[in-house]
Amino acid sequence: MTALEVRNLVKHFHGTQQSAVNNISFELSNGEILALVGPSGCGKTTTLRMIAGLERPDSGIVCLNDRVVASESVFVPPEKRGVGMVFQDHALFPHLTVSENIAFGLRGQSPAQIRQTVGEMLHLVGLLPLSKRYPHALSGGERQRVALARALAPRPVLVLMDEPFSSLDADLRMEMREHVRRILKSMQATVIFVTHDQEEALYMGDRLAVLQNGHIEQIGTPEEIFHESNTRFVSEFMGDSDFLMGKVTSGGILTEIGLLKQVVDLPVSTPVEIALRADDIDFLVDGSGNSVIVERFFRGAFNIYRLRLDSGQTLHASTSHTQILPVGMRVRAFISAEHPLTIFSEA
Ligand code: ADP
Ligand code: MG
Repeated sequence: MTALEVRNLVKHFHGTQQSAVNNISFELSNGEILALVGPSGCGKTTTLRMIAGLERPDSGIVCLNDRVVASESVFVPPEKRGVGMVFQDHALFPHLTVSENIAFGLRGQSPAQIRQTVGEMLHLVGLLPLSKRYPHALSGGERQRVALARALAPRPVLVLMDEPFSSLDADLRMEMREHVRRILKSMQATVIFVTHDQEEALYMGDRLAVLQNGHIEQIGTPEEIFHESNTRFVSEFMGDSDFLMGKVTSGGILTEIGLLKQVVDLPVSTPVEIALRADDIDFLVDGSGNSVIVERFFRGAFNIYRLRLDSGQTLHASTSHTQILPVGMRVRAFISAEHPLTIFSEA
């Protein structure tokens, strides 16, 4: 069943040139996690705020569980939408304990009911031993888990999370990702998870919506977004792609570093660009090769080499962590990918 439907949502702030959100439409099924990902300023928070009811759309419709909550003639206030929210800064009440914070959204229920739900939530997020602590005595990760428990406790129809891990350090973020995804899935929560971090989006989302300049560039599964990018922007933003120029021939695509034997449905001689990631490119040491090592980045498990082709174009290639070669060395780069590559043509 469709939990959320957003149709042609538009928001333009006074005094700005561009619309913050420009005609966004998507649907979310019950129990699905949608990662909303895009660079800073692309309209992620504004989209969430309109769904939550914290902002009125200029036009468009928001529908929660088949009930219109925002349209030209309807505006249901946030507290009546049954939506739970988790923000970057946790926003816990400092004068309330962990348990009291979690109980906050349950006002109106019987004390026994509240006790039971709070107990379940504490258990779910692994904070039972800390139930009587105050927020100042918690770590960043613990505070974020309290915020999540507080949002989930009233069993919202939809959970909105706006860059919830961005104030945590890198190690903790990785840990929280796994933990929080497991919690959300065990609750079968319907979630929009906002992030500007591609990797986090690929990990958290059952599907991803990639935003740029207030519109959705592409929506799809993590695999589709990563391997079948519809636009250059998605390919670049989601996968750190390089783009190699080529020309369609009868036998494939001819490039500066050889022939890519991939059939494309384009006329011979069409100029194209091939999206390449570091693991699609390999190279051999070769004094008469087609490129030069410009830089090496050690990543622990592997090395990333930046290569400059004779045309001046840059490509990145990943190799084993044991292969240490000097900058300035001439090499022969070639396409080693054994899967179809994404091809863009200007047409
Ligand atoms: P994101 O969350 O993706 O970083 P936002 O939705 O916060 O992006 O912002 C989208 C655009 O709208 C930005 O250009 C931002 O400056 C602008 N914007 C957001 N809120 C307001 C506001 N209250 N008044 C004017 N402009 C705003
Ligand atoms: Mg934002």
